Amino acid sequence: MARYVYFFGGGRADGHKDMKDILGGKGAGLAEMTNASLPVPPGFTISTVACNLYVERGGSLPQEVEKEIDIALERLESLMGKALGAPADPLLVSVRSGAKFSMPGMMDTILNLGLNDRSVEGLKAKTGNGRFAKDSYRRFIQMYGNVVLGLDKDHFEHELSAVKKKARAKADVDLNEAALDEVITRYKALVERETGKPFPQEPRAQLQGARDAVFKSWMNPRAVTYRKLNDIPHDLGTAVNVQTMVFGNMGDTSATGVGFTRNPSTGAKEFYGEFLQNAQGEDVVAGIRTPHPIADLERLMPEAYRQLREITTRLERHYKDVQDFEFTIQEGRLYMLQTRNGKRTGMAAVNIAVDLVEEGILAPREALMKVEPQALDQLLHPVFEPRARAAAKVVAKGLPASPGAASGAVVFTADDAVARARQGQRVLLVRMETVPDDIHGMSVAQGILTATGGMTSHAAVVGRQMGKPSVVGCGALEIDAKGRRLSVAGKLVREGDSLSIDGATGEVMLGLVPTSPSEVLQVVDGRLKPEQSALYRKFARLLAWTDDVRRLGIRANADIPRDAKIAFAFGARGIGLCRTEHMFFAEERLPHVVTMIRSAARGQRGLDLTRALRARLAEAQGGEARRLRAELKAAQAQYGPAMADYTGALKKLLPMQRADFSGLFREMKGHPVTIRTLDPPLHEFLPKREELIGDIARLSGMGTAEKKAVAKKYRLTVAQLKRGLPELLREVEELHEFNPMLGHRGCRLGITYPEITRMQARAIFEAALQVSRQGTPVKPEVMIPLVGHVEEFKRQKQIVLDVAHEVLGESGSGVEYLVGTMIEVPRGALTADEIAREAQFFSFGTNDLTQMGFGLSRDDAGKFLNHYIDHGLIDRDPFVTLDASGVGQLVEIGVQKGRAAKPELKIGVCGEHGGDPASIRFFHGAGLDYVSCSPYRVPIARLAAAQAQLERPSGD
Ligand code: ADP
Ligand code: MG
Ligand code: MG
Repeated sequence: MARYVYFFGGGRADGHKDMKDILGGKGAGLAEMTNASLPVPPGFTISTVACNLYVERGGSLPQEVEKEIDIALERLESLMGKALGAPADPLLVSVRSGAKFSMPGMMDTILNLGLNDRSVEGLKAKTGNGRFAKDSYRRFIQMYGNVVLGLDKDHFEHELSAVKKKARAKADVDLNEAALDEVITRYKALVERETGKPFPQEPRAQLQGARDAVFKSWMNPRAVTYRKLNDIPHDLGTAVNVQTMVFGNMGDTSATGVGFTRNPSTGAKEFYGEFLQNAQGEDVVAGIRTPHPIADLERLMPEAYRQLREITTRLERHYKDVQDFEFTIQEGRLYMLQTRNGKRTGMAAVNIAVDLVEEGILAPREALMKVEPQALDQLLHPVFEPRARAAAKVVAKGLPASPGAASGAVVFTADDAVARARQGQRVLLVRMETVPDDIHGMSVAQGILTATGGMTSHAAVVGRQMGKPSVVGCGALEIDAKGRRLSVAGKLVREGDSLSIDGATGEVMLGLVPTSPSEVLQVVDGRLKPEQSALYRKFARLLAWTDDVRRLGIRANADIPRDAKIAFAFGARGIGLCRTEHMFFAEERLPHVVTMIRSAARGQRGLDLTRALRARLAEAQGGEARRLRAELKAAQAQYGPAMADYTGALKKLLPMQRADFSGLFREMKGHPVTIRTLDPPLHEFLPKREELIGDIARLSGMGTAEKKAVAKKYRLTVAQLKRGLPELLREVEELHEFNPMLGHRGCRLGITYPEITRMQARAIFEAALQVSRQGTPVKPEVMIPLVGHVEEFKRQKQIVLDVAHEVLGESGSGVEYLVGTMIEVPRGALTADEIAREAQFFSFGTNDLTQMGFGLSRDDAGKFLNHYIDHGLIDRDPFVTLDASGVGQLVEIGVQKGRAAKPELKIGVCGEHGGDPASIRFFHGAGLDYVSCSPYRVPIARLAAAQAQLERPSGD
């Protein structure tokens, strides 16, 4: 038989702690505490099932439910020996909403229900405390009036202050009985005036009104929105708890309070909380009077304090977690009104989880489930000093792209950032949006703030990769980069003025809000010893447990040795993606890169042509040979300069790349290092077309100083400007693409310009040989990007193998390497079997796979994607959390076809999703071997991978 109402009281409850779905969190907690013989005022819980019926039926309950409620109420009345609202000695109850998850927008609790003009006199007579009885009644009218009848709180506040003023009372508690009588009279008049009906006097009607208000609040817009945002299903429903009142407002031996069994912001093992004497319900948190720290309770009411400590300690052991509890003391007697697992900061979560293991309350595996992976991020970023933070003025809000606190002098260009940083200033880089050649400025800035762009914009991605606080898409900023100023919320901020950003909330604040650095990070980068940070040691301990559990390997996306070192210190064992091109932006390299690009087309053609001619020449004789020699000469004349530029630039880049790769190999101490050959469209490295056009147009009017500056920018001499700029423009225009993301990039570059792949392969193998000869084992993995057709892979692979032979010799010189590919073009996933026959590993590039699989341009999606999310078309940004049901299929197909063709195929992922807990859960389920993410997300990935295994164990 279906049942809708669950009783608790008299030492027994119908429900228990695992019934949150039906009883809500609050109801389940009350039942559990009752069963544990704790002092809980008796009552009953009307289940979430009833709520769903109420919503379905458009605002009524079936007869059988009403009947169950009547029976439960009668049972309560007989247990308490009083009838609800009875004139002489009334039973009074509270009506409390409680869903499985607490959420804003749900109905506030109503206290003292059952009071009316007659029962209030009964309560007075019974307790001999008129002030208390009247105070309870006026509170009831106020709460019921607001919550059930929908009257504005201010109306009531207004009447209350009028009476307080008249009685010269400072606080509510200073009002005597007569004054409270006047408050009641005014409140009732107010209700009648506003609703056209007298305040309901009938206790049963009051109860029904309150109950229905709870059910209705489930569908109110705020609650609905909150559920959408937090992925909470709408058919969960809320429960209603009807509970016998106990009173904290009966005088100074009575009190009400809230607390935590440990400090929820630091995790310290200390009793934490606040209470107020002679108060009720929400007074403690409402800020009406300043509450006392809970330690004071020991002095004021030692017995109740002792009992509270004992009970809450028991609760913590019972629930194996920090408890957030609510209690009331009525004339020295303690009652428990709520308990639940406490919310906590990332730092507290780590401290508590490890402490609970040390105290023998939790097993390590259980402790791993107590920390939200994402929360680990908080431990790695600077934090605002709390007081200063509270006082700061928030002027705008953008997207919280990369957490952490940052403050500094505002600069508007990457160069200015570097210049000021050189002088020792802390700067905040503010841009419309960032581009790859802002990297140098981004890396010296405390934080990054942009006016446009989404959670996966360049600033966001790079900010996260660098572990740099970033707020992006802050539309309220009006940036005038030329004028070096911005305006926001009517304030003008000039270069050098201070701003602060909170990358965890997206808030932008005026002025310099002081910050302090992350302890964990200081240990990881060697500024602090592990012995000096207890927090670090706990953090490391927790993460070490993940390694015993998880099946997924964790690698990092890192391009330079410093990042690799940090990643290793965070526990990454391998690099899943080294983007070689990121190293091309360095100041001493860019000129060679630009030369390489400008000469690539002609240079490569010349090389191909002269090589072919030479080959034919070697076999030719007589007239044929003479003709070929002439042709060769002509080709050399035509292409010679381009070939020289091309091969010259590659020669310059070779040792630089080799040095980068050696550094990575060394830092990874024998773990695999996956290096991707050149990937992005080439024009990213060249000057912007619009800028060039502008400079050409202005050239004739420029003075000498300006010409010098322009020449320097393009690395020309002043004399070369006139011819050089148009030539440069022509080349930039030649490289222009309408859709660069689907254009000449990825392996398509290596196929048309094989010399580049050859140089990169050489740099990789020479570095590998060098480092391995020095005694550090190496495992290079050469990765070909953007393969959509097996032939593309085959040809690039051949180049890599040829170079490997040249460098390592027949024997291989003891260097073990792999050649594999990224799967990031849908066609690549669909033909994964063909590709797997050739490749030794796959790495899913889920950024591009999402872009192409979903048909979403990452750089343009900001304009509509947020609308999609806001309007519930999709739940989440598919660039943040992998679109499991769509793009995820491409991953599954790739894995399945790839492994069918080659069972030992190693498969990983190197897109942004590699550091996202929900996506990691998916990759675990899909059977990948590893995920690769930015260095600072490695701890998150380790924990998420362990949780995925604990939730859904899978074999090795
Ligand atoms: P919330 O979900 O907002 O925490 P609660 O239902 O827990 O709301 O109620 C808020 C406060 O009201 C409780 O902390 C407690 O102080 C008071 N309260 C609720 N029910 C009772 C009761 N039966 N007796 C005394 N106080 C109560
Ligand atoms: Mg509560
Ligand atoms: Mg890609």
